[in-house]
This record gives sequence, C-alpha cells and structure tokens, in this order.
Amino acid sequence: MLRVARRPLDTALVNVTLLTLDSERRIIPDGCLIVRDDRIEAVGDRAELIRRIAQSQRTIDGRGMVAVPGFVNAHTHSFQSLLRGLADGMDLIGFLRNVVYPVSPVITPEETRLGAAISVLEAIKSGTTCLIDNHSADTGFEATDAIAQIFAESGLRGLVARGFRQPTARARAWRVPEHAFQFSLAEEIEITRGLIEKWRREADGRVQVCPAPLTLFLAGPDDLRAAKALADEYAVPVHVHVAEARSEVEATLEDYGCREVEHLARVGVLDRRFHVVHGIWLDERELDLLAERGGHVVHCPTSNMSLASGVARVPEMLARGVNVALASDGLGNHNHDMFSVMKTASLLHRVHTLRPDALRPQQVLEMATLGGARALGLEKEIGSLEPGKRADLVLLDLRKPHLVPVYDLPTAIVHGANAADVDTVMVDGQVIMESRRVKTLDEAAIVSAVEAAGPELLRRAGLSS
Ligand SMILES: [Zn+2]
Repeated sequence: MLRVARRPLDTALVNVTLLTLDSERRIIPDGCLIVRDDRIEAVGDRAELIRRIAQSQRTIDGRGMVAVPGFVNAHTHSFQSLLRGLADGMDLIGFLRNVVYPVSPVITPEETRLGAAISVLEAIKSGTTCLIDNHSADTGFEATDAIAQIFAESGLRGLVARGFRQPTARARAWRVPEHAFQFSLAEEIEITRGLIEKWRREADGRVQVCPAPLTLFLAGPDDLRAAKALADEYAVPVHVHVAEARSEVEATLEDYGCREVEHLARVGVLDRRFHVVHGIWLDERELDLLAERGGHVVHCPTSNMSLASGVARVPEMLARGVNVALASDGLGNHNHDMFSVMKTASLLHRVHTLRPDALRPQQVLEMATLGGARALGLEKEIGSLEPGKRADLVLLDLRKPHLVPVYDLPTAIVHGANAADVDTVMVDGQVIMESRRVKTLDEAAIVSAVEAAGPELLRRAGLSS
C-alpha cells in the first residue's frame, strides 16, 4: 500500500511578497506565511507574526521572491507527452484519427507511467501544484493506477479523470476503430469505481479519480447518466470534452436535435460538479444554462489555437458568473506550462474581441488558481493563500532581466514571467521543489527514459517516418 508517511516541517516563509488572492485580493510586501502541518496557519507582515516565526522548525527566506497560490492545470492527457509535436497541422478529429487511435492499443502501462512522470515533472517545474489528467489511451486499471501512483510519489495534488468511450451510432459513423472501445459500460463503471475507492484511502486524499466520458460522440445519454451516478456517489466531478470542434456540435444537433450543453442539461448531468472541457461552440442559451446550473468551463486556449478549434467565449462566461478554469490540454499544446497558457488566454481574447481590456491579468491569474479550485470543489482548500487552506504555493523569483522593474504583479506574472522563474514549490506543506530541483522524482532518469520510450512507442504504433 502506498501511503506516504510524512509530516511536513512547520515552516515560516519570511521576507516575501505575498500575492494572496484572498477575498480582498491583498498583496503583502515583506510578508510572512506560517505553515503548520499541511495548512497555512497565518498570513501577515513580519512584525505581527514574529512569535510564530520563532516557533517554526524551519525558515525559508523568500527575499526578492513572490509567493503565489500554486496553479491548477485543469485538463491534460499526460500520455500525449510521449507524442510531442505530432499533432502539428491537424485539427481535433485528424489528430484523434492519425495519432491517438493508433497509439491507444499499443501503449503499455509502463509507457503510460512515463508519460505521467514527465508531465508531472514539467508541471512541478512550471509552478503547477494541482493537475487534472484526463487519461484516454489504455484506460485499464493498471495503466490508470500507474498515473495516480506517479501523482502520489511526486507530491503533486491531482485528479485522474479516467476517460471512457462507448460505441455510439455516431462513433460508428465516424469510423472510430473497434479497439478504441476497450470496455463495456458496466466494466468502465466498475474499473473507475475500483480506482476511486482505492485512491480515497491513499496519499492523504491528495489524489482522486473521477469518471470522464470523453466526448458526446463517444458517450450516449445512458453512458453520461451512468458516469454521473457514479460521480455523485463519491462527490467527484464528471469531466467531458464539450463543443470543442464545430463538427461535434453539428453531429450532436443531428443526433439529438439540440446543441451540446443543452443536451447535457436535458440528459440531467449538468450541475456544479460537471466539467465542460473547452466549451468553444456555445450559444447564448448554453451560456445561460451554464450560469444557471453551475457547470465549470475548462478553457484550453493554446490547444484551441493550435488545433484551430475556435475561441471560447470566456469574457462572456465570466460576465455571467460562470466559473472558468485554465488548462494546457494534451498534444494540442506542446507542453504543460501554465505561464504560456495564461499569457495565451490573456492575449487571445484581446485580439478576438478587439478589446485590450477583454481579459485582465488579474482575471487570468484567478482562473489559473481559484477557478481550478472551484472546478474541483476544493475552493475552501486551495486556490489562495489564506489561513486554514492547504499550503499549496509557489515561490517566483522575479529578479530577472525580463521582469524588472515590477509595477503590477499580476501583469508581470501573466505577461512577463515564465516557468524558469519558479524557484520553490510546496504542496500540503511539503517542499517538492527547492531552487528548481525536484525532490520527489528523479528528473534525469525520467528524461532519459522518455527519450528512449517515445520513438519505440511510435514504431509500434506505425507512426515512425
Ligand atoms: Zn483534451
């Protein structure tokens, strides 16, 4: 049984600027943050916390640094890190047909584990403290469990959204290969249930599993309802790609006589634990439905641009009070760097609306932290630096030629900073990266193993040139 027996050192983080994202959105220069066990005990200036600093077992000097809540990357496909660059020049359906479907039947659990390891490593090194991995290749128990194991070992917080596909009439019409349908619906539910049960008891509850019917053309109404019933039993999200490609929306209109979000509402699965991943091709009525029912949109701007999928109506969603989280996605994006995702989000909506204030850096930063936390139902636990919340935070070194002088912190972070500016990463009070060295995973070994495994996987999938 994998139980990480650990109790983090009580820590005082001193001489640091705190970008709290608390209810007052306070920024505290020369601040101090006290961590007891896995939670933030106090946040304030040094003078008011001087006694608590003295009682701490460890002091981290954050001079010249900014502490921010760790980023939540709310949608990835970690196995696709073994396939970097292969989707270039393709749209979503082409990419599924030409890359994902050939790889899915030949990828081994060990390769799935390596894909997760390199993705988690990259996430930590770019300031992500919580990752949703929508696993969608070999979704058997062993391979899916291997991802959760990597999350547990790495110290990262995570949700493994176990994808499943069912042979709908549309999937048949679109000639999704037979091997893509690995399991019956009953088996999908039982495998997912087994993983949810297992991981509820492991790794201090830091790693969770949830059902993720992959798209509406790969899951009919009964499949969606079965996933939702399972998710409700354990109070976990349902995670689904919705209205990503325009062709999917046209198919749903033809098959069900309504658009995708409307379909989800009719089927009875759209609520405050439902993740609408992408949510690009939505009309006014669908935006209203999201606001009414509380579904969360996971916005993947870089992927949407790369696959030429379209532009989600994010400023309108935010104006309606719809929660929006941010994510890198898999191959549609070359990497899992939330800095590039944040900057892309900010710039995309400006150029799309021809309004330079369409989305401000502060809003983008909130989507990358609080937005993700809300989508996971963890808004009382993570997403900001406040007493009582879990100590999930990142230290950024902003004393860099590309950043000084800093006049506005959110703008500097969203438009100026990059992954290499992340110095230290803490999850649940545990320092998992210090001075850019990841302490929980063997970086050199994982990089070498992935360099070897990637081409071998492509050869077996018949994708080598
Ligand atoms: Zn995806």
